[in-house]
Amino acid sequence: MICPSCGPNPVDTIWDGVTLSFNRKHLRSTIQPPTTIHDTSPCNNRRYLVKPQLIPDKELRRSLSTIVSSPHLKQLGALLSKSDDLPLTEKEQKSVRKLIELVPVVEEQLNEVNTSLGQFFGRIFGLRAIISCPPARAYIALFQQIAAEESVLQMANRPALIALGGLLESSSLISAKILEIPAIHLVIQECWASSDNGLPNDVLGTLKWFHSRAMEVLTKALSNGQSSSPELATIPECDWRESGCYYSIPQIRNRPKYPSLKHDTRPELGDDRGGKCSKFYNQYGKQRLTGGIMGVWCTHSICYGFHFIPVGEGRNDVFSAIYTRWPTAPKRIIYDFACALSPYSLTREADFFADTSFNIDTFHAKGHTKCSPAAFLKTYSEVDPRAIHINSSAAECGNSGISRIRKAVSYMTQERAIVYTRVFLSYWNRQRIRKLNEAMV
Ligand SMILES: [Zn+2]
Ligand SMILES: [Zn+2]
Repeated sequence: MICPSCGPNPVDTIWDGVTLSFNRKHLRSTIQPPTTIHDTSPCNNRRYLVKPQLIPDKELRRSLSTIVSSPHLKQLGALLSKSDDLPLTEKEQKSVRKLIELVPVVEEQLNEVNTSLGQFFGRIFGLRAIISCPPARAYIALFQQIAAEESVLQMANRPALIALGGLLESSSLISAKILEIPAIHLVIQECWASSDNGLPNDVLGTLKWFHSRAMEVLTKALSNGQSSSPELATIPECDWRESGCYYSIPQIRNRPKYPSLKHDTRPELGDDRGGKCSKFYNQYGKQRLTGGIMGVWCTHSICYGFHFIPVGEGRNDVFSAIYTRWPTAPKRIIYDFACALSPYSLTREADFFADTSFNIDTFHAKGHTKCSPAAFLKTYSEVDPRAIHINSSAAECGNSGISRIRKAVSYMTQERAIVYTRVFLSYWNRQRIRKLNEAMV
């Protein structure tokens, strides 16, 4: 279960929780997912991260988001230039009036956060600016992400911040490419496309503010609590036929305990979304079945391993599988609930996950209506063609492949289900490795 092209520790990984379950009455106590806490588990004293958003003030985030996400931005210009013949319904009129009220207030408040940011906003979204020219898409997208409820680290991880820092220092912003942060990349491009004079000072100042604020959040996350991370060692594993846990990467850590995180290992059954993401976890286990399996694939759709989950699927399954086995975290984690996995992982092991991008592929994007564009793989594939390939493999792995054995497994006993799944995935891999070898010859 190793891809000849990606090697023993793939850097781009696709995770999927698959409804491949057997009857709960066959569940035996030998089952041992990576989420299991052992006596020898290290004890890390982390706390929940406070205000990791770019703009700490919640009200300001909400008002800014109302403006830049409004479908009526264009009508605003027409209405302000007194062309009252717009066929607006009463509801639309009301929302446009609200915008007219909100824009100057937000401009002033952003000015207090950072003067460049306030000026930049005023120049693009100010009432006078909007009359002469509706805002370009790149500016709307950037301000939507500035207003996001997510941590700023979703938008820019450690390598992206280092790249941006280098860019700001080097004054070589003419040919600047910052593919790691698509929203900023597209704004720089837009500035150069619309003027030969380079980046306006307010944009430059805003980027400097962004960088320093994001570094502040990163530093706080990295210094979160005491850790007793043990030396790496190969941990003796139980027989996979008993434990239901099979990965081609050997286990090198136990899942730590986090006594200061109140809800650390609580199973997620669809209610605990913190009011942020609108997509709910699938309600597994409704029909007296177990929680299915969690599996991981490389971008060539080759499966690197899986584990059976006694109840419910959650972020803990992905977090624990990676932390217990990967020597360093994968560069990219594609997962249906990446928007929730990212804060979960960074709260617990920020240093380990600081260089990772957490993304939702297009196939799973449906339902995440409230999440920041920075969470979606699509945002990255718009500027970086490498991401397009990852997206198409993500649709092929996981559920769509395994659905063929779902019915058969639902009638099996535990050990039979485990062995059958492993054999199926080995055949699956062999076919793909053959194709890959043929293509390489
Ligand atoms: Zn989401
Ligand atoms: Zn591969």
